[in-house]
Amino acid sequence: AKTAGRNTFRFYASGMNAAVREELELENDLREAVERESFELYYQPKLDTVSGRMVGMEALIRWHHPRRGWVSPAEFIPLAESTGLIVRIDTWVLEEAVRQLSAWKKLGQALVPIAVNVSAREFASGNVLARIEQLIGRSGLPADLLELEITETTLMQDVDGTAPLLSALKKLGVGLAVDDFGTGYSSLNYLKRLPIEVLKIDQSFVSDIGTDEDDTTIVSAVIALAHSLRMKVVAEGVETEAQAAFLKEQGCDMSQGYLYSRPLPADELLAFWRRR
Ligand code: C2E
Ligand code: CA
Ligand code: CA
Ligand code: CA
Repeated sequence: AKTAGRNTFRFYASGMNAAVREELELENDLREAVERESFELYYQPKLDTVSGRMVGMEALIRWHHPRRGWVSPAEFIPLAESTGLIVRIDTWVLEEAVRQLSAWKKLGQALVPIAVNVSAREFASGNVLARIEQLIGRSGLPADLLELEITETTLMQDVDGTAPLLSALKKLGVGLAVDDFGTGYSSLNYLKRLPIEVLKIDQSFVSDIGTDEDDTTIVSAVIALAHSLRMKVVAEGVETEAQAAFLKEQGCDMSQGYLYSRPLPADELLAFWRRR
């Protein structure tokens, strides 16, 4: 029994080592990727639910790892957050999004806003306002072409501390959206204390429209709540016609999801955009 126990332990320990080693390796690779800026921005269209026109898009980062291939942001963003690399990644994303807008403008494209995800760490760093002000100023683009998606959990961390920053961003003209709305188990009180214009209903609710009665009710309630607070609503993760029909019937303003388009590289996004 003792031997078995020791073997079990050894197996466990070496398993741990492998996991830790892999994590460290990924961290080193991520550091290198940040140095070399070996990321790409993909864009997912946001469509007006009634007209079907493309009225915005969300920028989503992709990392092409030299050996692993594409690594999902769901995997490396948490690592980037725990190591602090996220601040440089978020900066790169903001700059790339604005650079892309300028490139599309040069092509004569009538622009729509790009939404960029901002991590909690970046948001708390105190650099966001100055960085965005500078970026917008340099680009000569109107500030309302940039929208920030901030998760409900991030906003909830420090409502009072966040309020002045959001107000300053709003004054600058930048759009503000609450991401993953409904997953933060929050009191709804913060909503009226922050100058927010858009709620994004989390896809976990959208995916269960029609199959889970509670989730269906939550979706209707969020739309009604947002409208009563004079906010717009985006449904994310729309995959089926049935979901789209329900959202339209409920008056949801915008929809985003695989039903319409996956996130696309800039050139493919432009082709989709021009077809609409
Ligand atoms: P998120 O901000 O909630 O982004 C939505 C995620 O849902 C994206 O995954 C998108 O590709 C995916 N999605 C869109 N439509 C559908 C659909 O119809 N069905 C399904 N099943 N999924 C759909 P992605 O690109 O893998 O990103 C995952 C998360 O990583 C994002 O969640 C966001 O939290 C984070 N992230 C992505 N890009 C960035 C970035 O540039 N900066 C930061 N800080 N975080 C990012
Ligand atoms: Ca988002
Ligand atoms: Ca989301
Ligand atoms: Ca459910």
